[in-house]
Amino acid sequence: MDRYKKIKLLSRLASFECEKNPDLGRCIYSASTPYGKKPILKVLQSTYCDKNCDYCMFRRDRDSTPRVFISPEDLARGFIELYRKGKVQGLFLSSGIFIHPEITMEKMIDTVSILRNKYGYRGYIHLKLMPGVSLQTIEEAVKLADRVSLNIEAPNDRRLKSIARGKSIKRDMLPLMEQVSKLLKNYTRKTHITQVMVGASGETDEELLKSSEFLYRKLGLNRVYYSAFYPVKETPMESKKPESKLREHRLYQADFLIRDYGFSYKELPFVNGKLPEDKDPKEAWAQANPHLFPIEINKADFELLLRIPGVGKETAKEIIRRRMKSAIRSPEDLRGIRNLRKILRYVTLCGKAFSGKVS
Ligand code: SF4
Repeated sequence: MDRYKKIKLLSRLASFECEKNPDLGRCIYSASTPYGKKPILKVLQSTYCDKNCDYCMFRRDRDSTPRVFISPEDLARGFIELYRKGKVQGLFLSSGIFIHPEITMEKMIDTVSILRNKYGYRGYIHLKLMPGVSLQTIEEAVKLADRVSLNIEAPNDRRLKSIARGKSIKRDMLPLMEQVSKLLKNYTRKTHITQVMVGASGETDEELLKSSEFLYRKLGLNRVYYSAFYPVKETPMESKKPESKLREHRLYQADFLIRDYGFSYKELPFVNGKLPEDKDPKEAWAQANPHLFPIEINKADFELLLRIPGVGKETAKEIIRRRMKSAIRSPEDLRGIRNLRKILRYVTLCGKAFSGKVS
């Protein structure tokens, strides 16, 4: 198989969404990077994998997965050609784990070294880290990539073991994440992320958000991505129901409260470990804490404003700007503020409530 065909196949297989569409152009996706949105080629070094994770299309025992490996030189050349033609502006390189995580990672690092050192490529690279590699290899990966990621897939080892025997977050992932976190202190724009599957391991929202809080606060992760489980045919989980996108969405909203708004997962209104699905988590939290409301909008500091349902960072800043000019006395003084109707349900303006009095 020639280089281009291999890249096309490895890229198609890397993106579940474009599995059915053989056009490489469709497998180039627009991703947020520290340098803005860029067309990124997501590709695998290899579809061979010695592991047997129950949910994964690359698991060792899945006979129908096409098995392909591309050499670092071929992949780097293929990518640089696409880059020079203006088709892509970034690379997201992942892989199945073949022979040993260290050997897999070595090949991936060779690919990006060739890009950086032989072809002088200075653009965006997102490199997936293989669980269980050495700390020295991690250092090399962080040096070469703009973003590194290590997907924990489940909130703790008990849950992970139920879908991926032989993998351990504590043993194979946390030490690497700690190392990445230490190394990233020397860089300003490099980032470190992970992904968890939602609904694959019987986990609760509370377990997921507890684990995310730990990753943000203790390991300095930039972002946790939540991915609703979708069953892959010819895997042990093929008959499990797909997880709802609404649950994924509520987790992102709750995650945002933890990451950016100073909430702890312990404050969130879980019922038997689940977030309510019928309202956003901040509104559910506010309704579970009526003694904290209404909040006087002219007196609340920035952090308290952020606790009002409907108020985001930009809105909180805008409220502070307006009230510095003069006190906010009526909904008129908040004209143009997003979610005003919702906000008014939770605030007073110079001591008066205006809920339901906005046109
Ligand atoms: S190690 Fe990764 S590629 Fe291999 S089976 Fe597990 S999830 Fe899939």
